[in-house]
Amino acid sequence: MADRINLGRRGLLGRLGLALSLPPLALSPATPARSAELTLLDESDPSAQAEGYVSDASRAKGADAGANCANCSLYAATSDATQGTCQYFPDKLVKAAGWCQAYSGL
Ligand code: SF4
Repeated sequence: MADRINLGRRGLLGRLGLALSLPPLALSPATPARSAELTLLDESDPSAQAEGYVSDASRAKGADAGANCANCSLYAATSDATQGTCQYFPDKLVKAAGWCQAYSGL
């Protein structure tokens, strides 16, 4: 009986943990409405400079060949978009062709 109660509690705590972890994921994807509210990240922005963000990855110091925002796991946009949202810079849009030191390959 005690084991069944403990399993029930573990299951409940596990579901609660999962439920609490999902809302940030639901808020982050790029939607057309959300993207329309954001402005493009400027390379001169202090937060961009701190991470070495450039709007064209070919100018990036330290970027691997072919790495850019469009294939970064923190980027979200429609496949044909030239800019989208980035979880690392949540209040800005970044260029699909851009890159920064927080790059995370897919
Ligand atoms: Fe681009 Fe990824 Fe850096 Fe965001 S974290 S600016 S998507 S390379």
